[in-house]
Amino acid sequence: MKKLIIPFVLLSGMAFGQTKLRPAIDKKATEIESKVIEWRRDIHQNPELGNQEVRTAKKIADHLRSLGIEVTEGVAVTGVVGYLKGGKPGPTVALRADMDALPVTERVDLPFKSTKTAIYNGQETGVMHACGHDTHVAILMGVAEILAGIKDQIQGNVKFIFQPAEEGIYEPGVTTWGAKQMVEQGVMKDVDAVFGLHISAQTEVGKIGYRSGPAQAAVDNLEIIVHGTQAHGASPWSGVDPIVTSSQIVTGLQTILSRSVNITENPAVVTVGAIHGGIRHNIIPEKVEMIGTIRTFGEEQQALVHKRITEIATNIAESAGARAEVNIQKLYPSTVNDPNLTSKMVATLEAAAGKENVRVNPPVTGAEDFSFYQREKPGLFIGLGGMKKGGDSTKTPSHHTPDFYIDESGFILGLRVMSYFVVDYMNK
Ligand SMILES: [Zn+2]
Ligand SMILES: [Zn+2]
Repeated sequence: MKKLIIPFVLLSGMAFGQTKLRPAIDKKATEIESKVIEWRRDIHQNPELGNQEVRTAKKIADHLRSLGIEVTEGVAVTGVVGYLKGGKPGPTVALRADMDALPVTERVDLPFKSTKTAIYNGQETGVMHACGHDTHVAILMGVAEILAGIKDQIQGNVKFIFQPAEEGIYEPGVTTWGAKQMVEQGVMKDVDAVFGLHISAQTEVGKIGYRSGPAQAAVDNLEIIVHGTQAHGASPWSGVDPIVTSSQIVTGLQTILSRSVNITENPAVVTVGAIHGGIRHNIIPEKVEMIGTIRTFGEEQQALVHKRITEIATNIAESAGARAEVNIQKLYPSTVNDPNLTSKMVATLEAAAGKENVRVNPPVTGAEDFSFYQREKPGLFIGLGGMKKGGDSTKTPSHHTPDFYIDESGFILGLRVMSYFVVDYMNK
């Protein structure tokens, strides 16, 4: 077996000439690990909601400037972009971290526990880094320090994208934020490839997960309004009942996944989360409103699911003499890892984590606005282990919950793999 492995290592070494920089990266990563953990604790203790990441942004900008990196602040409200020019000409590689926290009250007993509060949607709430974006910021600050230290040997440029509001902004009339807004402000124009990671409370430290092609779902809001004709509940034949019609529509929507979507390729989800109609036991109302969420993988499947929802709702309503209005609001597109880039970078993942620690993830029906960068340029988004060694992933608290917890010993792999992405990509 060993004889088979050695030539492979030599070959990949030849293909990636800059792999000679890996030992320097590893050394520096070990040196700054405790500093990265300190940054993370400070950010964790001082979480800020989307588009309010003022303190976090300042900390990032100060650090990047101290490394001699060119800094632009106030991108897409509170975003920070750093630009590191390498010593030799080459492509521009972007690395992305998101900065925002969530309206969640922390319950984990940590010395750096968040006690911050904010008014959210008119209610007072705790604020917590309950998705681990604090770790993304600290890791990318560390990667900036590692790469700034070897910039003379870097064959290209590195763009550090620190974006706000990945978790969304729920303000009436606001339709653009986070990654989408960063892209609209031109952050991807001079970029050749983009990489990002998400820490995972359900993956053991030291492990990396990835998936080629559609990896995370697109998320779209669904609203269906069924218009009938109001009648006395005792004489339904004198009206058109939108409640019965809505029930048939909800049932009909289930056939999209069982009859229309090729489930051997990718999953999809259509959920009706609320139905509102009627006021009294003996009045058939005039209309019923339903809202829900749609999760799809890839633009083709998304178009199919949207088309079927509209056909089913409008035709079922028509068959009852009612009328259905279907409104679909597209939020985040599907996170699609460029298959060509992904296959080229698998060796990099294996070099950083060890082959036995790299696995192919199943598709995830949660969404991630990293997808907006990937629509502009080839991108790869990976999962990084943040669960303590030997933990049970079915029992660890999930992201967005008050008990969410990340094991800091997983950060060093994040430092190494993000730095490897840059030097490996540049010398392909
Ligand atoms: Zn999240
Ligand atoms: Zn997240």
